[in-house]
Parts: sequence; structure tokens; C-alpha cells
Amino acid sequence: MTDLQIATCVKPLHIKEIGSKLNIAEDDLEYYGKYKAKLPSHLIDESRIAQGSLILVTAISPTPAGEGKTTTTIGLVDAMNKIGKKTTAVLREPSLGPVFGMKGGAAGGGWSQVIPMEDINLHFTGDFHAIEKANNLLSALIDNNIQSKKRSLNIDPRKVLWKRAMDMNDRALRNIITGLGGNSGGILRETGFNITAASEVMAILCMSKSLDDLKARFGRIYLGDKFDGSPVFAHDLHAEGAMATLMKEAIKPNLVQTLENNPAILHGGPFANIAQGTNSILATKTGMSLSDFVVTEAGFGSDLGAEKFFNIKCREAGISPKAVVLVATIRALKYHGGKPLAELTQEDVATLEKGFANLERHIESLKSFGLPVVVSINAFTTDTEAELDSLLNHCKHLGVRAALSFGWAKGGEGCIDLAHLVAEAAEETLAEFNPTYELSDPILTKIEKVCRTIYGTRNVILTNPAKAQLNRFEELGFGNLPICIAKTQKSLSDDEKKIGRPENFDIKIREFEIAAGAGFIIPIAGDMLRMPGLPGTPSSENVDIDSEGNISGLF
Ligand code: ADP
Ligand code: MG
Repeated sequence: MTDLQIATCVKPLHIKEIGSKLNIAEDDLEYYGKYKAKLPSHLIDESRIAQGSLILVTAISPTPAGEGKTTTTIGLVDAMNKIGKKTTAVLREPSLGPVFGMKGGAAGGGWSQVIPMEDINLHFTGDFHAIEKANNLLSALIDNNIQSKKRSLNIDPRKVLWKRAMDMNDRALRNIITGLGGNSGGILRETGFNITAASEVMAILCMSKSLDDLKARFGRIYLGDKFDGSPVFAHDLHAEGAMATLMKEAIKPNLVQTLENNPAILHGGPFANIAQGTNSILATKTGMSLSDFVVTEAGFGSDLGAEKFFNIKCREAGISPKAVVLVATIRALKYHGGKPLAELTQEDVATLEKGFANLERHIESLKSFGLPVVVSINAFTTDTEAELDSLLNHCKHLGVRAALSFGWAKGGEGCIDLAHLVAEAAEETLAEFNPTYELSDPILTKIEKVCRTIYGTRNVILTNPAKAQLNRFEELGFGNLPICIAKTQKSLSDDEKKIGRPENFDIKIREFEIAAGAGFIIPIAGDMLRMPGLPGTPSSENVDIDSEGNISGLF
């Protein structure tokens, strides 16, 4: 069965029944149809958050297919509820772009999904549209100011950093020229589009702690320079009030359910390379206010997602997880042992064992945060018993808790062992996590600490332009922000060909970007695409709807 067939064969409960599992008064649910509701901010209860148990799901260095963090998160939530722990999944909402590009949704898979999956993968409750509009309002204000003689801020059209946004994989918009059409069409300039998930508005939504905070962050967006070289902020265009107004509904987290009718809160979806890669602070806090355990996910491997989750998000939100689940798959470990992508389904214990080095490095990095790690082996039908035994034995040898998980094949029932281990690990944790760096460290020191502690890097090298940018950001007073390193997810290094556990490598920071509103500096190691393209045969060709409105071919 396809994911869509599984998702549509289960009858969802009315969302008010999911709300009542969380003791939410019916009046506090803002319905979007029968199966989706928005949650108001007054449900956040700091005293309950302080007692709650947050569980982070991360992964080893992934193959392009993804190793199953979302699937594991949902399976684990269903299993935790089965063993009597009141647990909510808190996740990102998917971007529309990849839906028509590559196969595979972002709402879990198999028998571990959140529903209604068609809605979740399509327009959902419109948050992405609101983000896009707030983003593009600022773009329109910038071009209007450049055109206007009377209220001109003297913005240098060649130095505008802010781009337009759209939630579609459309490479033709990556680099464009605007302002064609003569005098009345504006001033000609080179610019481009970001996919909505890669926009700073998305990152800001996910870092915000309230509507006031959202508005203040919008005001702090650094959008470019004037002709005299001084910086221009969104506040200089008085943009933040209208931008926040456009976001008045989008700021509220969305309640849906898993296939087993357990609560799931989905909100925001920033990229995990150039942004923090995890759902909104408001959603995590809402989940923690309403249930004893929250299981959440951070994008890509632990070097990107988990590091940013701790050092950027948890620090800002004042929360600390109780345990970390590290998802590993036989196929990815074989890949890190050197097996070609096309041969990952063939049994090969020797290559698998070579790939263990990648798992070990992720475990060591995660231990630097001072929290217990549980390895979840996401089982695929192509895994053999010899391979699974070898991996389980290796985890035992490393002294790390590990369980096989069958969330994809069996739902919650398939993750019971994992749930017991996670609950046990969470109970042991009394202290908060150790951050990798202090906010007061110089920017370069922060980068060096992350590269050495998390990636295993030897030296950090800055290009000359990067050095100049770094000095400028420190001069402008951004030196105390956390860092959000943008690099490939395919390797612990900045070179995707270095699989396994790279040693003796340097990381080269080519340039810096700043997300002053979201509140982080982005050191860029490698090329980062903020507007993807579609593949040669886009999956949109399979998507159809019949005369009764039944969708097919979505996933
Ligand atoms: P991540 O969140 O790490 O990117 P997902 O949970 O979204 O990964 O899974 C990626 C893809 O792999 C999805 O299409 C999902 O349905 C599929 N998948 C996950 N686990 C399994 C499994 N055990 N067997 C088969 N397919 C799986
Ligand atoms: Mg995911």
C-alpha cells in the first residue's frame, strides 16, 4: 500500500476529540474543518513546561532518501501512548515544493503518519502562504522605496539582500531581474526568489515567543545597505506592523493527529542547513504545556539538526530535552562503509561494520550535550538478520541503549521497545544540556567549537571576504548571536564525498549571511541552494484527483 492509501484508510477522529485528550476546552480550538485546529497562545503554561519531558529525534548522516526521523517520531509517540505515557508529537509542517519534486512526503511514512496527510502536504492551514505574503510585502516595500523620490532611504539597489519567496521548486526564479518596463516599472535590479521554507520569515516565526516578539524580530531584519554603506532594517520601512498582522493566524500552532489518533502539533518548517531546521518554539512549548512527553525532530543528521536544536532553539526558548533518539539505518551505515547507493539493499555485513564509524561519531557528538542517547534502528524489509544483529551487538559493545523500531511497518506496536528505553533514559536525566559554546564567545570561537566538538574538524579556515564580513557583523553589534552553520548534510565534513567518519579535515567558511531578525549568524561552508529545482520527471505527473475529489499519486 502507498502512504496515501494507508493514510486514507484510517478514519480520523474529530479534532475536538484529540483536543479533549489534551484537556483543551472546546472553545479554545479554532477549527479548520473537522480534522485540523489552531491552538491559541494562552494554552502555554510555563510551570508545566518546566516539568515536561522533551525528547529529540535526530539521525546519523543521511542518504538522500532520509533515514526515517519523522516516521520514528510518530511511531514513538504512538508507542509511548500505548505504554501509558501521555505524549504528543511536535513536528515541522511540510513545504509544498518537494511534494511535486521527489517522491516521499514529510508527514511520516507507512503506519506512522500524521493525518489528514493530503491537507498537511498541500495547503494545510495556510501558514506557508501567510509567510510568503509577509516576505513579499517587505520586498514590495523595498522596491517602492527605491522608486520613491520623496521618502527615499537611499537604498543601494545593488546591495539589497532580501529576496522574494514562493513555496514551489522553481529554479527559473532563483536569479531574476525586476523593475522592467520603463520609468513606472521601478528601478531595474538583480534579485531572486527563495523557497518559503528557506526564507527568514519562516526562521523568525519558528524563533518567536509571542506576537510582540515576532513583530520586533521582523523590525530587526537586515535587508541591505544604503549608498553610503550603512545598513537598512525592515523597521526603517515601518514594515513590521503589517508583516505581523499578516501572520496573526500563522503564528498559532496546528493540531492534527497520528494514524492511531494521538495528538500531533505541526508548526513552521525552516530548512536545516541555512536555518534552524525545527518546528516553532511556540509549538514545542504548547505541546509541553499539554502533555507529559513531547517527541520532536530536527532536520538532517545530528551535526546539523541536533546542534542547532540545542545551541539555537533550546537556548532561546529556555527548554532542555531529557533524551535524544538517534535514528540509524542499515542502508545508511552501508553507504558510510563505502557501498554505492544503488547497491544498498544487498546484504553486506563487512561494509556495514565499516560504516559504524559514522554512528560512533554522532553518538560522541551528542554525548557532548550531556544527555542520554538511545539508538533507534529503523528497520527496512531489505535488512537481513545478520546485519541487524551486528548493529545491535555493536551498540551493546558501545554501551549505548538501542532498539529495533518497526514504526513504518507496524505503527506504535512496532516501537514499544524503543518507547521503554526512551522513558527509562528520560527518567535518569536531572540536569539541563551543556551548550557547545557561550553566546559571549567571539564568532570565530563559536564556529571552531562547533566544528571541533560536533564535526571532528581540525581547523576552521575563513576566506578573505568572509573575514571582512565577520568584522562588519561584529562592528554592527551582532557578535553575541548564536551561529547556524550551513553545510552539506551528506557528510560530517563540508565535502559530501567524505563519508563515514572523516578525520584530519578542515572546514572552509566561504562567506557569512545574517538573519538578524531570526537572531543568528550563518557561516556558509559550501554552496547552499535556497530555491531548489524539479527533477527531470517530477512526481506531479502522478498526482491526480477524480470527479469525487479523491486524490491519487500524492505519495
Ligand atoms: P526523515 O524525517 O529523516 O527525513 P522520513 O521519516 O520522512 O525521514 O522518511 C523518509 C522516507 O522514507 C519516507 O518516504 C518514509 O515513508 C520512508 N521510510 C521511513 N522508514 C521506512 C522504513 N522502515 N521502511 C520503508 N520506508 C521507510
Ligand atoms: Mg523529517
